[in-house]
Parts: sequence; C-alpha cells; structure tokens
Amino acid sequence: MAHRVTIIPGDGIGPEVATAARLVLDAAGAEIEWVERQAGSVALEQERSLLPDATLDGIRDTRVALKGPVTTPVGTGFRSVNVALRQELDLFAAVRPARTTPGVPTRHGGIDLVVIRENTEDLYKGIEFARGAPETSALRDELRELAGFEVREDAGVTVKPISVDGTRRIVRFAFEYARANARGKVTVGHKASIMRYSDGLFLQTARIESEDPLLRGDTGFEEIQIDHLSMRLARHPQDFDVLLLPNLYGDILSDLCAGLVGGLGLAAGANIGWEYAVFEPVHGSAPDIAGKGVANPIAMILSGAMMLRHLGEKGSASAVEAAVDTVLERGDVRTPDLGGSSSTMDVAEAIVGALGR
Ligand code: ATP
Repeated sequence: MAHRVTIIPGDGIGPEVATAARLVLDAAGAEIEWVERQAGSVALEQERSLLPDATLDGIRDTRVALKGPVTTPVGTGFRSVNVALRQELDLFAAVRPARTTPGVPTRHGGIDLVVIRENTEDLYKGIEFARGAPETSALRDELRELAGFEVREDAGVTVKPISVDGTRRIVRFAFEYARANARGKVTVGHKASIMRYSDGLFLQTARIESEDPLLRGDTGFEEIQIDHLSMRLARHPQDFDVLLLPNLYGDILSDLCAGLVGGLGLAAGANIGWEYAVFEPVHGSAPDIAGKGVANPIAMILSGAMMLRHLGEKGSASAVEAAVDTVLERGDVRTPDLGGSSSTMDVAEAIVGALGR
C-alpha cells in the first residue's frame, strides 16, 4: 500500500527543491501518494493565511509531511509559520544529522553526528516583554517585589522556561534515537553554572533519565558546557555522536554543524512529535537565488530520505543516501553553492541515475 504524505513546497526556492525531491523519492522504490498543501506566501495569496487550517489538517490526516522552506514576512506581525507548525502539532524534537560526504571538501573529515534539539521551550517559547510596554513595567515591579531583582527601565525581556516534562521527553527521545540508530553516545550541552534553574533543570533531568537502564542500554552519556562544546566542535567534531541540546543552543549549533560538513545546501532535518513528523531542510527560502533553478536540492532530498526511514522504507532511504554520495563523490554535477554550474534538476536527475533503477 502506498504511503500517504503531505507535501508542502513552501516559498522562495521551496517549490524548486520540492519538485527535485519528489523526482528522486518517486524513483527510489517506495510507493508514495503525495497530497499537496500550501504554506507561506503562496498560501497567503490563495487562502489568506500563512498556515491554512487545510494544511494543518492535511498533516494530521497523513501524519507525515515533507516541507520546503517557508519565510515569515518580517515586520508584518505574523508569527513564524515554522514555530506555529511545531507548536500546533507538538513537534518537540528537531533531528539534524551532520555527516562528512565524499567529495565535498571540509576542514575536518570523518564527522558523523546528529543534533537533537528541544523544539518547544526555552527562549523560543515566545514569552516576551517589549521595552517601555506597560506589561514590562508591571513585570519589573513584580520581580522587585518577589525577589529584589532590579531590571533596567529601558530593558526588553525574553523569558526562558524549561520544564521537567518538556525535558524528559526530549531526553528519552534522544536515547531511543541513539539505540534505534546504533549510535554510541549522547552528549548533553548546557550552561547550568549560570542558568541554574533552566539549564540546571535540563541537565538534572537528563542525568536522572540517563540512569534508566532500559532507556539507555549501552549508550554512553556525557555532559558538557555549551561554550566548551562550541570550542571542541570547532577543533574535534569527530568526538561527538548525538548532541542533545535545549532549543536556542540547538538552533545555533545545528547551523554550525551544517557548516562543518559543507553548508546549508546539504543539511537535512526533521521535526518529530509522538503523533506527527515533518521533514524539512535546515535552510531557509534563499530569496537571493529563488526562481533561478540553481538551488541545491540535496538538503531537501536527504530530508526525504529521513522521511523514508521514518516510514519504515529503510532500503529506499539508504539507496537515496548512497546515490547522493555517488553524485557528490563524482563531482561532475553540482550546484553553484558547491562550486559547480549545474541546475537543481540536473542534480536531481543525476541522483536518479545513480539510484541504478
Ligand atoms: P531563514 O531566516 O529563513 O533561515 P536566511 O536568508 O537566513 O533565511 P537561507 O534562506 O537559508 O537563510 O539562506 C542563507 C544563504 O544560504 C543564502 O545566501 C542562500 O542563497 C544560501 N542557501 C540556502 N539554501 C541553499 C540551497 N539549498 N542551495 C544553495 N544555496 C542555499
């Protein structure tokens, strides 16, 4: 039976890389019935909403989606489509692998790690108080009264909530992911020495959960301060396997890890909850190159391979990844971001050719 999957092309380079990804995934052997839904500027024009109910319902129906990048217009008061999607569907885990690929020159070789980022809490929760707003003034008074904290009158404030429940599920997810994918070690990044009650709670919860032998199995566990982790990633990224991070650090370090292995054009990702999973590249809609047919489709194609694996189509997933490696190693068909002059569809067709079907 075919897998039903919602496809959201998105905007900017989204529709170009989505078409390329469909071409490859359809050729990879797994049967997929695509259900197309819109989000972003196309949806705003057609359905007067950046994230129409029909799109959310479509994902709830198929449970799995492949999504291109969606830009939230800046300064228009809209909330980010990506954040809204994660919150509406409770996609609490972001999974972003970073692996050295053959033929792509990088400073370090032999990198094969996965960033697992908590997706719903922390400074990205959206609890904000604007400088000068009456609520901010009330908050300052309250903080002074409650605990003697003095916040400057001209300050804006963003609140950082991290909960035991929110942390427990991402820790459990990380260990289950490590075991299911034969990964040897989970490293938790934090700054618990300074943020004792938010990062401290994240770390403490990770420690407690890691003591569950059924959850952990043979997986190693280590903790490291986020600044030290950044330095070690720059010097010896091969030392790491699964990185478990709160939301903000996870966002920053997953881009850093993408950079370590060849840039945004290759970085795949997934947002996963207990019920739904949305697969999408790490990159944005790249307005500077949109419509030119030169966007690198590999990040979207590898996101599709992650989706195939999630659907239980391991053989097709591995075939797509191997075909991407073959094309990168050969080096004759590449988009400009990797130093080539091929088009988006040239790359997709070369990958289809390398599938050997
Ligand atoms: P966002 O805020 O949505 O992340 P951004 O503009 O900060 O958007 P991107 O849209 O990811 O970030 O683009 C950053 C740079 O990387 C741009 O110069 C863009 O052209 C380039 N880029 C991103 N994705 C690709 C891709 N798939 N192929 C080639 N270049 C890309």
